[in-house]
Amino acid sequence: MKRNPRDTGGLTRRDFLRTTAGAGAGAATIGGIGAGEPTAQGRPTRWNREADVVVIGSGAAGLPAAIAASERGASVIVVEANFDVGGHAIVSGGNVALGGGTSRQKKYGIVDSPDLVFSDLTDWSVVEPNGFPDYRYNDKEIIRAFADHSAPTYEFLVAHGVIFVEKVPDNQGAGAAGNSAPRENHAAPMDWPQIQTGKRVAATIASTGSSGIGLIRPLEASARKLGVEILLKHRMTALVREHQYSGRVLGIAVTSEGRTVNIRARKGVVITSGGSSGNVSFRRMFDPRLTEEYCGVAGEPYSVQDASGELAAMSIGASLWGGFNQTGEFGQIITKPGRVGCQYGYVNLVWEPTSPIFHLARAVGLAVRDYQDVILINKAGTRFYDEAKGQFSANNYNAIKNYVPHSWRNAANMKYNPADYLNAALAGVPGDAVNGGGPIWAIFDSEAVTRENWTVAPPFVDTAAEFFFSAGSLEELATRIDNKYQRTPLPAATLQSTVARYNSFVDSGSDEDFGKPAPKYKIQTPPFYAAWATPVIHDTRTGLRINAKCEVVDMQGHVIPGLFCGGESAGGFSLHGLARCTVQGRIAGTSAAAGT
Ligand SMILES: Cc1cc2nc3c(=O)[nH]c(=O)nc-3n(C[C@H](O)[C@H](O)[C@H](O)COP(=O)(O)OP(=O)(O)OC[C@H]3O[C@@H](n4cnc5c(N)ncnc54)[C@H](O)[C@@H]3O)c2cc1C
Repeated sequence: MKRNPRDTGGLTRRDFLRTTAGAGAGAATIGGIGAGEPTAQGRPTRWNREADVVVIGSGAAGLPAAIAASERGASVIVVEANFDVGGHAIVSGGNVALGGGTSRQKKYGIVDSPDLVFSDLTDWSVVEPNGFPDYRYNDKEIIRAFADHSAPTYEFLVAHGVIFVEKVPDNQGAGAAGNSAPRENHAAPMDWPQIQTGKRVAATIASTGSSGIGLIRPLEASARKLGVEILLKHRMTALVREHQYSGRVLGIAVTSEGRTVNIRARKGVVITSGGSSGNVSFRRMFDPRLTEEYCGVAGEPYSVQDASGELAAMSIGASLWGGFNQTGEFGQIITKPGRVGCQYGYVNLVWEPTSPIFHLARAVGLAVRDYQDVILINKAGTRFYDEAKGQFSANNYNAIKNYVPHSWRNAANMKYNPADYLNAALAGVPGDAVNGGGPIWAIFDSEAVTRENWTVAPPFVDTAAEFFFSAGSLEELATRIDNKYQRTPLPAATLQSTVARYNSFVDSGSDEDFGKPAPKYKIQTPPFYAAWATPVIHDTRTGLRINAKCEVVDMQGHVIPGLFCGGESAGGFSLHGLARCTVQGRIAGTSAAAGT
């Protein structure tokens, strides 16, 4: 049994020591990941590489940053921790909410402007269906920059080879992009093999579908053509600054296959490392409930949002910003899994056995077509919710009927749908003094397997890593449910009585506990199954404090010379995804090339 995993945020003490020891020898102030101790002063004994601009990460923000800097005459090195470029962006849906008067919007007669984008994304009165205010805590300086650079970034992406599906912009995909105009554009996957499948999409949808591969591969090609050097398997471990809390940022320290490489940045370092949702300690600063068991972070296991950029910058004095945007329960921050019985079950990402990283994903998962076929139980073996209910859903264009900008009446005009699965799941067991709700398991029987047409064996379910169990009786099933996140044994008697009570609701036609509409099927025919169904964490919406030029700002409110940031590692802006990241990447690269 593997209980009580240590809350390391993915970094062990040994990692920390290796990081600071390797990078710190003779160095200027090294802002190491996880560095909480005084670090050595002085420059590195030697710089191994140098460029005008050094970009950390090659995702939705990093590639535009590199291209923008290069277009302005800067030499650029991108360091990428992964074996390939793209980060979360390459496995994303490729829905890019760029408006403000794009050529595509104009072509289809959609009226939009930077002022309208700004008005939308600073509208305090807009709420999501669960009541959370999308834009109330946005930083207006950051939103103004986004609004002004939205349409130019759309044209920039097109100029650098991104093919957006030829159709009128809509509101499909990214969510909460404002109430005044449709702004979603969709990057066509064309014939690039997808990471999640290892295959090209069907020819019939190559130019009409939407996928992050269609955003990233053209940008990668464009960056390389411009002479940007992309160093794969190079992980930034520290920022080098003249003094720990003052002076310019001079460069970065990187580890690559056990070696430390010091890279000097003559003009600037751009942090585009993708955010912090995969770092348990970091994310718990904003929501203490998000403990280790929320291990199915969307976009993993391809790339990890480990807060490395944030932590390195914080250790040389950078401030965080807009923390509420991370604490708030917005559309995609935490979601009900799309598939059960696997670790990585994000609703919009299916790992197939043909993927080059399937050995890391380990299972496809089981898509639940009808939640009448399963019940969901918590770590103590009890139900907590109407399983048939859905997700939080985002506010979006036209979601508020009779939208009146900046009017308190918008809240009254929102159709509320709290769909509180997530809070019920994260609540855990009443009286429990432990944070985090613990694992959530989908429980079902062999008849459900037949109805759903599931194959309850690898590669569809992950038995090896203990995200799926089966047994001939409920009692035995309870004893088998045992992975490192199930910290206390699941009481067999509770599971049996939970199922018996649910079966009685099927007889009576009424779920007295949680109001599931007319429970249909008893759980009664062995074998019985337990499949991992724990909520999935997705977006990072807080991060480093930046200004309109994407310069990083310190705890005293001063710009840190030579340090820039964009994308999910930047704070102050509650908006899901690619639009924010591409715009800020482009701004950050432009600013870095100009230097501070
Ligand atoms: C499945 C999925 C679907 C999505 N669909 C959409 C969608 O349709 N529309 C939308 O708007 N948004 C979508 N998103 C969100 C969107 O993909 C992200 O918001 C966006 O990619 C974040 O961009 P980024 O540049 O900040 O980070 P990323 O794109 O994740 O890039 C960060 C990069 O930095 C690298 N890195 C991290 N740390 C280091 C280090 N220390 N040293 C070197 N490199 C490092 C990472 O390996 C990664 O390659 C989706 C996300 C997922 C996971």
